[in-house]
Parts: sequence; structure tokens; C-alpha cells
Amino acid sequence: MLCFSRHVVHSGKLPEIYVRKEKTLKANFLSGAKTAPELREIGAGLFAYVQHGSWGYSNAGLITSGGASLLVDTLYDLALTRSMLDEMRRATPLSSTPNIVVNTHADGDHCWGNQLVGGARIISSRSAALEMRELSPKLLATLVGTARALSRLGPARRFLASLSRIRVPRLPALAEAAEFVVECFGSFHFRGIELTQPTERFDGRLTLRVGDKTIELVEVGPAHTKGDLFVHVPSERVVFSGDILFAGSHPIMWQGPVENWIRACDRLLALDVDVIVPGHGPLTDIHGVRVTKDYWERLVVLTDRGRRAGASTAEIARQALQEDFGGWSESHRLVANVDAIRREQDGGRSRRHPLDVMAIMARFGRDLK
Ligand SMILES: [Zn+2]
Repeated sequence: MLCFSRHVVHSGKLPEIYVRKEKTLKANFLSGAKTAPELREIGAGLFAYVQHGSWGYSNAGLITSGGASLLVDTLYDLALTRSMLDEMRRATPLSSTPNIVVNTHADGDHCWGNQLVGGARIISSRSAALEMRELSPKLLATLVGTARALSRLGPARRFLASLSRIRVPRLPALAEAAEFVVECFGSFHFRGIELTQPTERFDGRLTLRVGDKTIELVEVGPAHTKGDLFVHVPSERVVFSGDILFAGSHPIMWQGPVENWIRACDRLLALDVDVIVPGHGPLTDIHGVRVTKDYWERLVVLTDRGRRAGASTAEIARQALQEDFGGWSESHRLVANVDAIRREQDGGRSRRHPLDVMAIMARFGRDLK
């Protein structure tokens, strides 16, 4: 029996919901509804912290044993991270100060609360640690503030954005995506966050001990970002997948290549686990990995077919929504994924700037309405 109370707790085997079948193009543009997060016991001394909502509302985890503890990911801002740590402290005294924090990748919603776990060893892949330097919380705060101001300007913002003397990075893209950027990131508090880098980095694979538990960190990026990893707890048959899995919503491929994301799914499929804590969305199991692998494989085929037929990226994405992928939330990400795959198939190696990707998604979302 699963319990969905605010505090812990449930134990026993999942699976849970992964795929929602309703087919609607518009209603799923953004699933902004947010209910209270849940801390759920998923094994002996093992917890998943599950947030609900859209962009930036990520999951985290806690592994405790023999007086030691390991936190999988911090959250997007200090208030969210503080409230998660308080909840964990109420559930187990072992988590008062985690000994180790693992960041599954460089996105802020998985590491911008790091400053609240001072004194802990903070571990990520080397690639993720490097990528963390590319966007500061301060810059994102500025971008959201500018987007908020631009969104109030209406059509005049396009003229403003064309003025080269205004020095905001990628202003035309920001003007295009202004409302969308505010909708995605406007509810977080990025001011006051000090980028707190990992104290230890690794390449490939790292084995850790937490009390009497063995923990395997396995780097599978670049895929969602440059340095994704998952955290496997073999004794409890649990894995924390980071953003290799978005349960119930479209994933987004900032980095790729897509073949590497598919390989990452294969590495998850090779594990003997009962519970998977995705980077976003409800708890899932191996079925969630199969669905994600299938998503990417089908998108590769659809994109290739569409581009050979001369369809635009938006047309391919719209077709994909109608055919197969209408049931997941955050459907605007589909156009970003088709765009990334298409660029790969056209032989391109470079990635678009994230703000340009946001502009493409914003335009697609407007067209869907
Ligand atoms: Zn995330």
C-alpha cells in the first residue's frame, strides 16, 4: 500500500504511474501545478524527495547507513533546499549534515543548494563540474528579471531587442521567450545563491561507501547535459537516474548526442533494480527507462523521415505530438529535441545556446495555442 502523505512514508515495491495516455496538445504545454513535495522511504534508510511541478522542480534522494549519509542532488534555490533538508532531518537524524553530496549533473535545479551542505564532500563528474561554471545563479536572476520587464513591454520589445547598444546577452532570443522564461523560472529565488562547486570530480565510474552500503556513481553523459551520472544502490535495488529520466514529461536534450542518451538507457536497463527515482516526476521502475529509450528511438526516426520530406522542425514536432507523444507534459520540449536531433542528422556538432532553445520552444508553444 502506498502512502501519499506530506511526510514519509511508504515502503514496498512500486511501480507507479509513468505514462499518462490522454491526448491533448494544448493542456500539456506547461504543467505548472505544484503541490507539496513528498519524502518517501524507498528502501532501508533510503529516501526519495519528490517535488511536483514543471521546470526546475527536481527530485533528490537520501541514502543513510551506519551513521553516515549521502544526499543525491540539492535543489534550485536555497528556500527549496532548506525545506528539503528540514524534512529529511525530521525523518532521520542521520541526515542532519550529509557527509557526501552527489550532483547528478550541472543544471541549477540539481546543485544550486550546495552552499547549504557546507563541510560535506561534494562529488560530480568532471564534465558536470566544468559545466557548472557556464551559468551563474546571478546571471539567471538577471535574465529572469529582464524577461519580466520585456514581457510587460508587448510588441515594443522586438524593437528594443534590435538595438545593439543594449548589452544583455542574446536579447532578441530573450525578447522572443520572455513570458516563457518567466513562466519556467520566475517562481525561484536565485539572488543570494553562491555557486558551490564539487570538491571532488571523477571520470567514468566511482564506488563509494556509506556506512555498510556500497554506492556506484556511473557517468553516462553527455546526454541531457555534458556530465550526467546516475547513482546506483545495488543492495536496495534502487537507482537515482538524474535527468536521464523525466517521468511523465518530455525530457530535454541540451547536449546529446541522442545515441548517447539511448546508451545511457541501456546502462540503466542492465541494472537489476525495483525502484528508479527520476530527475523529475513520480517514482518509476525499469518500464520508465524502456519508455524513455523508445521515445528517443522513435524521435530519431520521425525526425529523419520529416527532414527528408522537407518538413520544418516545428512541423515534425507537431506531427510527433499528434502521432505518439501527446500524453506527456512539457510538450514544448519536443520541438527542442527534434531540433537537436535534426542538427545532429545534418552533421552539425555545435549546440544551440540555451536561450535560443528557449525561444524556439516559446514560439512552438504559442503556435500550439
Ligand atoms: Zn532537472
